[in-house]
Amino acid sequence: MNTLIGKSVCSGIAIGRVEIYKRNAQMIKREKVEDAHAETERYVEARNKAIDELEHLFYKATREIGEAEAQIFSIHKMMLEDIDYNESVVNIIEKQMVNAETAVLLTADSLAKMFSETEDTYMTARAGDVRDVSDRIINILSGERTKMPESSENTIIFADDLAPSETLQMDKTKITAFVTEKGSASSHTAILARSMGIPAVIGIKISDEMDGQAVAVDGFTGIVYLDPNEEVLNKLREKSRERDRQRELLELMKNRPTETKNGRKVKLYANIGTPNEVGSAVFNDAEGIGLMRSEFLYLESRDFPSEESQFDAYKRVLEGMNGKMVIIRTLDIGADKKIDYFNLPKEENPAMGLRAIRICLTRKDIFKTQLRAILRASIFGNVSIMFPMIVSVEEVKKAKAILEEAKAELREKGIAYEYDIPVGIMIETPASAVISDELAKEVDFFSIGTNDLTQYVLAMDRQNMAVADMVDTHHKAILRMINVVINNAHKAGIWAGICGELGSDTSIIPELLKMGVDELSVSPNKVLEIRKIIREYEE
Ligand code: PEP
Ligand code: MG
Repeated sequence: MNTLIGKSVCSGIAIGRVEIYKRNAQMIKREKVEDAHAETERYVEARNKAIDELEHLFYKATREIGEAEAQIFSIHKMMLEDIDYNESVVNIIEKQMVNAETAVLLTADSLAKMFSETEDTYMTARAGDVRDVSDRIINILSGERTKMPESSENTIIFADDLAPSETLQMDKTKITAFVTEKGSASSHTAILARSMGIPAVIGIKISDEMDGQAVAVDGFTGIVYLDPNEEVLNKLREKSRERDRQRELLELMKNRPTETKNGRKVKLYANIGTPNEVGSAVFNDAEGIGLMRSEFLYLESRDFPSEESQFDAYKRVLEGMNGKMVIIRTLDIGADKKIDYFNLPKEENPAMGLRAIRICLTRKDIFKTQLRAILRASIFGNVSIMFPMIVSVEEVKKAKAILEEAKAELREKGIAYEYDIPVGIMIETPASAVISDELAKEVDFFSIGTNDLTQYVLAMDRQNMAVADMVDTHHKAILRMINVVINNAHKAGIWAGICGELGSDTSIIPELLKMGVDELSVSPNKVLEIRKIIREYEE
């Protein structure tokens, strides 16, 4: 037996045989060309074909694993549509008079180098993406496509690295784990493996002799056993059975009320980005949607989404939730969510800049379009509206006044909407937490956005990897603030929940329950696990 230690990027146990997956080696010959124009056309044709393929993969991934995970293929498509990428390829063809394959390869090399030299792990992971899309074009240009393995049952794929598109195209009924030499936990391949629930380990040195060997992968510890002995196999089988038992237990949580042992009910909602995620919220038995990050509708669009298209999206969510509560957060762009067509000024410190409600209050037309769409959709279910990034009572009053204007416009046209729509705010700035007693008089509920609240309270940018390790999400200052906010909400007779990541932090939930939190909104796949914790809590 040979024990190899790597890093787990998706937990689970798999036992089977190794199959080494190798991409066709790209032997790209640098060739001189006479006609740069014709070569550019050859490139453009191959690039357009690659874009078509990525669109196809996007739909396949959306169908098979969900839209959030499929986003990688739309990011890949955007990479190929990027002006800088295309200019670089065309410039190389024209200036160096070389074939398109060489120009694409050189462009990929320089971009991948640039990405991997940054300190930001997210950007480092993008180096793999730029290579993946460039390989796609080169393969089209050279007419060579790597064949996906025709695996037998219980195959464990060993590879130097796997591109997201390769991961997606493998036969999931036969492949039970991925082991790679390269990759990172935040690479999209790891993200895909997690959403497909396939154990994956990275950082294992791969060699050709491993092909066909018996193997066991412990995706909990990141250990890979080649030719495992009976003792290891038995241990792993037991671990796997334990996980199945755990899963069954969670299944038992379906259709159970979310209440503490003393019978106190807690609303357990799900966070979603797009209508496609409603399925997952319903499947996991969420009692409502506590946060629909509506900006995803804008991020996916090339121009301002029309009132009609937004209406369709909100209506789909409301109908999908079948009368359960759906809290739509109004547009929260800016900071890390930039959208070109908004033409926002470049900012030194965007997290503290023009974002969310600040944009909506200055660009009333955009805000009102969204509000009208939500209002029109309101008759199809149980909607609430929530404003993000509030810092003052005045902002809330202004936002509510615009909501009233939107209602008046609909009334004038005789268009129906629900009259009594609850309005809430996110408490995600220290200012709003401190004046939550005053804010509570203006609204029907609070939802605490601990992701932003944490970054502003600790003065640690949530996007900045340099401080990532220093962020203490359980910092006393944050917990005390949450406590104050919940108390102020209760004094005013409204409810207070948490929709930031802290709400799914199982180690802190008992403390939040002790503070009297009324609602938790978490990612759909966390709902059942959290219901179990709440049901086991005794006051
Ligand atoms: C938050 O800030 O906690 C939150 C839920 O909003 P977002 O993560 O979208 O900024
Ligand atoms: Mg936020």
